[in-house]
Amino acid sequence: MRELPIPGTTSASQLVAYAMCPRRYFFSYVAGIEPEFKSTALILGTIVHAGIGWWYEEKLAGREPALDALNRLVEADVLAATLDEATIRWRKDADAASLEADAKRLLRAYLAEYGDLPVTSTEALFSVPLVDPETGRVLGRDLKGYFDLVLEDDRIVEIKTAAKGWREDDLARHLQVGAYAYVWNTLHGGPSEIEVHVIVKLKGTPRVERYAIERGEADTRWFVQAAAAIEAAIDARIFPPSPSMLCHECECQKACLSLTGATDIQPAEAPGRHVRRFDVVA
Ligand code: SF4
Repeated sequence: MRELPIPGTTSASQLVAYAMCPRRYFFSYVAGIEPEFKSTALILGTIVHAGIGWWYEEKLAGREPALDALNRLVEADVLAATLDEATIRWRKDADAASLEADAKRLLRAYLAEYGDLPVTSTEALFSVPLVDPETGRVLGRDLKGYFDLVLEDDRIVEIKTAAKGWREDDLARHLQVGAYAYVWNTLHGGPSEIEVHVIVKLKGTPRVERYAIERGEADTRWFVQAAAAIEAAIDARIFPPSPSMLCHECECQKACLSLTGATDIQPAEAPGRHVRRFDVVA
């Protein structure tokens, strides 16, 4: 890979991206290539986050937010995000109108249940060194990011949107949750409680799943070791591909193919290629 500079700080998103596919990490964070498309899931998540942030910013400013105003904000956000429709990979039967309806539906469901949390700050910026808690040795770049919501009693809330529900097992080794717990423990000492709110986009009424997570010393050690190993690999500029069934969702697929001289993604029936499905006999 070319000797392009590595970003000066790391983040939970960078650690997750590298763990998913180091080559994709290189394209996104080091080479800085434009994504080949935007997914509707990503746009929806961004608009829902912005809506919840606006709701609590209004409350923190002493105003009473109203759903009508929130809906207008969503309409403006959807319009801005979909101006260049050609750059979006639409789900089957989806368009800007369905995206707007989904965003409003998810926000209504979330705020009906969690619209009155005792929030003290939104999008709270943090930046802490990545340090071995036992030896004090610096293990990589500073960890920088934002907490979605911070509550009066110091709990932090991380909000996710998802097409299907999560399981508690999904969170046991979740790098992002580990990063937030590490940061909160570093800033305030002692184990913290993190809440993850997953807004599940079901066909009818969305469901909000709420998980409370406490990370002890052993979990923190595991996270720090995992993050340090990833940081060492990035520093050594090790960016192998990680081909998987998720490649078709990769927004750097053409760039990845171009490394082997290919110019575009080949359809399954391209010359020299054959993918045939056999019927499964029950
Ligand atoms: S196409 Fe697959 S292997 Fe290539 S960068 Fe994307 S996720 Fe990684």
